[in-house]
Parts: sequence; C-alpha cells; structure tokens
Amino acid sequence: MKAMVLEEISPIEKKPLKMTDLPNPIPGSKEILIKISACGVCHTELDEIEGRLPPKLPIVLGHQIVGRVENLGPGATKFNLGDRVGIAWIYSACGKCYFCQNGNENLCSEFRGTGCHVNGGYAQYTVILEDFAYLIPERFSDAEATPLLCAGAIGYRDLILSGIKKNQTLGLFGFGASAHIVIQIARYWGCEIFVFTRGDEHRKLAKKLGASWTGGPEDEPPKRLHCAIDFTPVGETVPHALRALEKGGRLVLAVIRKRNLVPPLDYAQLLWDEKEIKSVANITRKDTQEFLLLASEIPIIPEVKEFKLEEANQALILLKQGKIQGAGVLRMLDEEDSVGSRIIQRGEK
Ligand SMILES: [Zn+2]
Ligand SMILES: [Zn+2]
Repeated sequence: MKAMVLEEISPIEKKPLKMTDLPNPIPGSKEILIKISACGVCHTELDEIEGRLPPKLPIVLGHQIVGRVENLGPGATKFNLGDRVGIAWIYSACGKCYFCQNGNENLCSEFRGTGCHVNGGYAQYTVILEDFAYLIPERFSDAEATPLLCAGAIGYRDLILSGIKKNQTLGLFGFGASAHIVIQIARYWGCEIFVFTRGDEHRKLAKKLGASWTGGPEDEPPKRLHCAIDFTPVGETVPHALRALEKGGRLVLAVIRKRNLVPPLDYAQLLWDEKEIKSVANITRKDTQEFLLLASEIPIIPEVKEFKLEEANQALILLKQGKIQGAGVLRMLDEEDSVGSRIIQRGEK
C-alpha cells in the first residue's frame, strides 16, 4: 500500500513525510482491516513531526480515519464487510487499570494513540481492534466525517470538561478545526460565544457560525466568560483567557502541547476568585460515540479542505500557518496495486 511515512523528527517546512510502499497490514485477533478513503490532518501531527510529542519511528501519522471494512480478523464479529467505520486518537487502552475501569480510559498508562504509538491513517489501509472503531452516521460524507473524529470529539470533551451550562457565555481562543465544531455544539446548547482569533477569515467564519463577538486574544470581550477553551498552541493565550473569565470560571486547555511556556501568572489578577485551569488529555470511546450521535442530530457539517495523500506535507504546512479554513482532509489514492502482495505483521511494537 501507499503511505506517507515519517522517519525522523524535523520541521514540517522540510517536508519530512515521504511517499512509501509498505506491506498491507493484516488484521489480528478481533481486529478489522480498513480500506481508508479519507484521513483528517491535525495539529497533533505537527507536534509529532516536530518532536513536541515524539511518536515511535518510523510512523504513519493520522488519527481521524474514515474507510470501509475490507477484512475481518479471527473472532471479529462486530462489523460486516463494507461497513463504513471511523478510527479516532484512542487506538487502544488496557481495559483493566483503575482509569479504564472508572470511565477514564483516556488516562490509561497503556493508552496508545493512533498514528503515534501505532501506524495511522496517512495510508491506504490500516487495522484496529473492532471495539475501537465506530460506525459513521450516514448524513456525513467520508471527508466531512474525518474532523468529527478528533477535532469534533475532543472538542466535545473540552466542552463537557469546561462545565458550560445552557445560556452561559463561552470564549473560544483560536478558531481552527476543533473550535469551528465546538461553536456549533455550544450554539445548539444556547450559549453565547466570543471568539478570540487573529485571522480575518477565521473571524468571518466565526460570525457566520454564530459568534456574537470576535476579537484578538488580548482584547476585552463585552461580557465576562463563564468558561473558556484555549485551542492555541502558544503559552501567552493563557493569561489573556484567565483575565476574561468570570469569577469561578474555568479555562480548558485543549492542546496536547504548547509551543512555548505559559508566562508567569499573577495570582491575584488571574487565578483568585476561584478561577480554574484544566487540561484535556486524549479521548475516550464514549466521548467519540456520544459526539458522533450529537453531530448527526444537530447536525454539524464541518467545512473541509481536501488534499491528496501525497500533499500531506503541504496540508500540514498550511495548517501550521493557520491558512486552512475549517479542517484539512487527505483523500486516498484508489489503487489496488499492492493489496495482498507483501503481507507481514504491522510493526507497532
Ligand atoms: Zn487530532
Ligand atoms: Zn487502562
């Protein structure tokens, strides 16, 4: 199969992803083989490529995968051949530890991330345990469904962790793939939304999706925020967001890594009055399942910009520059050339 492979940590500007022929993966016990049709690109992949979240190497990145079940491993019974399924960031968790048994499999110490610890979706095929794949609701196209699986599902988790209630005020710092889905859920819940972003295009999209105000990260919003979610990869946003919070408000940090340090926080100005900061780590299957249903009910239709698989470097460069409106999605080549030709076990260990 064709795959875009990362062999070493590098700035994305050097275009480190290389088109490579890999053996097709074969599904093990209770696993399914998926023929991938689309895979979203995510900021986390920039963190992996540039070494802030080092993956195992070499690696096939990508954790917002949509495709069809092509083959079933021994004992796999949950899906039929041809079912349209998705894979998210959670590739597996142990199922036995304290966290797994208490609804927090996202915190499992054996948590494995798709396209980080195990090969992911920048490829024509992949395999996964059937219990970690999801049926995709019919109302979404393949490309539209991909950002729901990370940007959307993690955005949903961010919102739940923010503790936001109906009719409260919510601030969104940064307005990329995740925020443009979060705003649609929060509007559905009757919240008033304030969007802090620099780009004119992002502000326009935020307004179109129902933001009542847009401004820069350091601007003062017309109302104090009951909750805020910071999607930006930079540290400076944290004090800006805390300053805009209402007393007792909570700031959720939605990124896995910040590119630079959070500046020192003035306790009296920024943290007192029972303000809280909470980070979000990974995702559970329950988040993903609940969100896919909610997204279909609202409905949320993500804006997507499509690229070919071989354009992955370019898509990630544009993402880094903040130049992708909505969510970037790689569409797979449809070549049967290497199916079954050189089969070995996938190298995930
Ligand atoms: Zn992601
Ligand atoms: Zn566990």
